[in-house]
Amino acid sequence: MENRASCFEVAQAGSLRYFRKRIARGCADGFRRGVSAPKLLIFDCDSTLSSIEGIDELARVRGPEIFKRVEEMTNEAMDGKIAVEAVFGRRLEIILPEAKHVAQIGRRYIETIEPDAKTVVDRARAAGWTVLIISGGFRQAIRPLADFLGIERVEAVDLFFDASGNYAGFDDKYPTTRSGGKPEVVNRLRRELSPSKIVMVGDGVSDLETKPVVDLFVGFGRYMAREKVKREAARFIHGLAELPDVLP
Ligand SMILES: [Mg+2]
Repeated sequence: MENRASCFEVAQAGSLRYFRKRIARGCADGFRRGVSAPKLLIFDCDSTLSSIEGIDELARVRGPEIFKRVEEMTNEAMDGKIAVEAVFGRRLEIILPEAKHVAQIGRRYIETIEPDAKTVVDRARAAGWTVLIISGGFRQAIRPLADFLGIERVEAVDLFFDASGNYAGFDDKYPTTRSGGKPEVVNRLRRELSPSKIVMVGDGVSDLETKPVVDLFVGFGRYMAREKVKREAARFIHGLAELPDVLP
């Protein structure tokens, strides 16, 4: 009886030690990650959260001729004939977008929002995701859509205007003005926010470039189903309504 009692006590003490160690280790991990380590759900903007390409719409405002030139350059860049970083500034120099045009595109992004974007973003947030946008588009144009979706952080390119609202250049140092820019921004966010998980959703090859630095890359093909993205994405969806089912 005495022996049985002492065996029980030994076992009990052992279990307590084990659980105390587990709890201590858990706390240490939690501390290292930050107790509230966020889960980041990052969206591309153009042809993902909205059906339009902001740069094309900005060109369209300037008439069919400018639109055609810009579109050709975009195609050449897509074919690899011109570097993205070269086209980026040149297209803007042709368009010379004014502040009022950018505001116009801001409204257009909301008018052409992906039909399930609002519901999906709200649901994701309720499930504990921090939602962000990383875009090679323009911060001022995307801001209204981000506000509409309740998205605080927009990583995109700043446009500059003079006091009269005329075009005065863009932030040519910003990573998404060049290829390889999106993974650079993701890595920056990882260092800054120490997230427990990162998911990126987008239609473009520039989005696909984030695949090695995120936990899950989801290709998006509602508006532009690019073969390379479809082939190489870990998951591929045709509407944002499908997103909750593929989130880890
Ligand atoms: Mg896109």
